[in-house]
Amino acid sequence: MREKGNSAELRDVRLFLFDLDGTLYLGEQLYPYTKALLEEIKRQGKHYLFMTNNSSRGVDAYVEKMKRLGIKATADDFITSVMATSAYILKTYPEKLFYVAGTESFKQELRASGVRVTDLYSGDVEGVIQGFDTELTFQKLDDVSKLLTLKEIPFIAANPDFVCPTEYGFVPDCGSICGMLEKATGKKPYYIGKPRPEMVYFAVERIRAKDSKVSLQNTLVVGDRMYTDIACGISAGAKTCLVLSGETTEEQAYASDYKIDYILKDCERILEAIR
Ligand SMILES: [Mg+2]
Repeated sequence: MREKGNSAELRDVRLFLFDLDGTLYLGEQLYPYTKALLEEIKRQGKHYLFMTNNSSRGVDAYVEKMKRLGIKATADDFITSVMATSAYILKTYPEKLFYVAGTESFKQELRASGVRVTDLYSGDVEGVIQGFDTELTFQKLDDVSKLLTLKEIPFIAANPDFVCPTEYGFVPDCGSICGMLEKATGKKPYYIGKPRPEMVYFAVERIRAKDSKVSLQNTLVVGDRMYTDIACGISAGAKTCLVLSGETTEEQAYASDYKIDYILKDCERILEAIR
């Protein structure tokens, strides 16, 4: 397998931002090198955060999942598209009441962060937030279509991913649900989450508070998907590492126009380089 990047320079990375599915595990299967890699980063006094676009679950579900896979984690170890969505809305539309089309946990996390949310259609609604809704019903599609058709209101989507990996292949993710809505209403959402750079900025800020040596220049975004993970790292001005342990094939990686710093077989290569 062809690989790319000067692996000696991986030793200079102080903050690793890891995508999860396809990067550190696949579904319910932790990759065999993941635990050792995370422990090695900590042992060297360096840092990592998990950065996920999946807006179907709250951060608690991720902490639980990591525990189940044998990785100790707390909510502070995560940067999620749900956190980025609430930060964006609190900054841009702090007073508006939003209809939330998403899972129960998505709605709860937005509400807990201070966003005004409802799941009832009414004339008072002033915006729509769409998430990766694994509890999707036709009623919600109907409500959102009506709101977007009858009113000129902000339409925010937590993440642009078209598909989410499963054990057998893929299911439609937030980007595909928005595709249906766009076909029906002609309205396009404003997407949060990767590939927008905000999640990387949050991450660097959070870690720099405890380690002033961390900067965008020594932050590495690691992921298996070019149009979210890699595009996000590039737009933030961080270093990027595409791993071929998930969605992207070697052929696609080398055919792409993205200026990727590292193309590696998987995260075990990072462990080998920094150990
Ligand atoms: Mg992934």
